[in-house]
Amino acid sequence: MTTTELQAVVQELGEPGYRGKQLANWIYAKAVSDFDQMLDLPKAFREKLAEQYVVNPLCVADHKRSTDNVDKLLVHNGDEQVYECVLLPYEDRVSCCVSSQVGCPMGCTFCATGMGGFDRNLDASEIVGQYLLLQSLSPKRIGHIVMMGMGEPLLNLDQVLKALRILHEEVGLSYRHMTISTVGLVPQIKQLAKEKLPIHLALSLHSPRDEVRDRLMPVNHKWPVEEVVGTMKDYHRATGRKVTFEYLLIDRVNDDEQQAAELAQLVKGVPNVINLIPFNWVDTGHGFKRPERERVKAFRRVLESKGVNVTERVERGHDIAAACGQLAGMHQGRFARRDRTSEIPLSSS
Ligand code: SAH
Ligand code: SF4
Repeated sequence: MTTTELQAVVQELGEPGYRGKQLANWIYAKAVSDFDQMLDLPKAFREKLAEQYVVNPLCVADHKRSTDNVDKLLVHNGDEQVYECVLLPYEDRVSCCVSSQVGCPMGCTFCATGMGGFDRNLDASEIVGQYLLLQSLSPKRIGHIVMMGMGEPLLNLDQVLKALRILHEEVGLSYRHMTISTVGLVPQIKQLAKEKLPIHLALSLHSPRDEVRDRLMPVNHKWPVEEVVGTMKDYHRATGRKVTFEYLLIDRVNDDEQQAAELAQLVKGVPNVINLIPFNWVDTGHGFKRPERERVKAFRRVLESKGVNVTERVERGHDIAAACGQLAGMHQGRFARRDRTSEIPLSSS
């Protein structure tokens, strides 16, 4: 809820409107998850709120911390559908990676989430809820959010935008620090461009050739390479934002120097960056492998020699399977129904 919506709620409960602001402050600025911790609210009012509302609808089913300080939460919303989010502290900033759907229907052949099938869209409260839960684990403010967890965010654009708006207006995050990563849904990219928000958009491209991309990503049959890359360029023109092309490197599938050269040609014309992601191993049944370091370097050299900006994804959280494409909800099938109010761990212990 926005502050305005919270104000309406408190007034309905017979309290003055300014209590809405107090609530928003506890929820969004302080990431407090329990009404009882909101000490400037009268006790009776806190009790009344607790009878009718929850601060955060999410419950934590599992919490893992990697050796390189990445926290991964497996969460649910009182039902049997679980999804994941990850806290990513860096030297200079704290970022988080959240899910937009439970599972994903896009069926990319290299992705653990895609292999698990699709349950449902998340709503805005579940997306903001992931941010707030992660914030409650982090001593530093989370200033960046990427929609790169489970799911295809542009299949759930309304709720994703509502969530990002709340994070912007209530938490104070800059749109420039929000990234949506998409498999490449052309109509939705156009719709997002019309919003004219400076949200950073990343396209999972993974090959400059239709015949290769077709094999990796069924979506390519519908919106092939030229069309989707053209739409990304339009997105840049509409928003002024540099666009990112993500490029998963799979050994001997899309990591040869010829494809690097074609890729450099393809992305010309707008400010962009290519983010290389060496394949994180998941058992896809296709025998996909991560390329040797030398092949990654050679691919990168070709791009750079043609003047392309290249970054390489810093890999984090490997020992807890928090890396890209590995968010499969690694639990034994669906787990038992839990109570909505099951305890949310607020410390990182
Ligand atoms: N559905 C969106 C966002 C979630 S996936 C999308 O596809 O862009 C986030 C990123 O992880 C995408 O770039 C995706 O291609 C990548 N990814 C999926 N499986 C992977 C794997 N096994 N190894 C490395 N990256 C992977
Ligand atoms: Fe879905 Fe993205 Fe995985 Fe493809 S890579 S199946 S779009 S989550």
